[in-house]
Amino acid sequence: MPIPSLPAEGGCRCGRVRLRISAKPLLTMACHCTGCQKMSSSAYSLSAAIPADGFEITKGEPVIGGLHGASKHYFCGYCMSWMFTRPEGLDWFVNLRPTMLDDPAWFTPFVETWTSEKLPWAETPALHSYAALPAFEEYDGLVAEYAKSQA
Ligand SMILES: [Zn+2]
Ligand SMILES: [Zn+2]
Repeated sequence: MPIPSLPAEGGCRCGRVRLRISAKPLLTMACHCTGCQKMSSSAYSLSAAIPADGFEITKGEPVIGGLHGASKHYFCGYCMSWMFTRPEGLDWFVNLRPTMLDDPAWFTPFVETWTSEKLPWAETPALHSYAALPAFEEYDGLVAEYAKSQA
């Protein structure tokens, strides 16, 4: 379902880091890769790709965690919630973990990735499944189709 209202507020488990989004997601995803299994401590991670200019930290200072590599994984430094990711070289959006939002009930993954690494029982309602990642040139079509599905 579409995000019910904007701006939408959210924060980490302990509330020391708070954030606000003021733009609709470009795409919603679930990732089954083994890296996401470890970092989420669960079967898969969830992402809402939020345009970078529609995303702000309103309280606290998230810290870098995960692999400390070119893609930056941001956590609350106190409760260690994995809050969002800034993917390498893709600075126009932020991959927010949607369960950070105070109301994540609207969230459904539209795309799922790395099903080649998924736990055997793990299923999502995503309409598009990829054994690894979509080809780079597929994203524009996925974003357009997602936007249409949310209209
Ligand atoms: Zn926290
Ligand atoms: Zn992943």
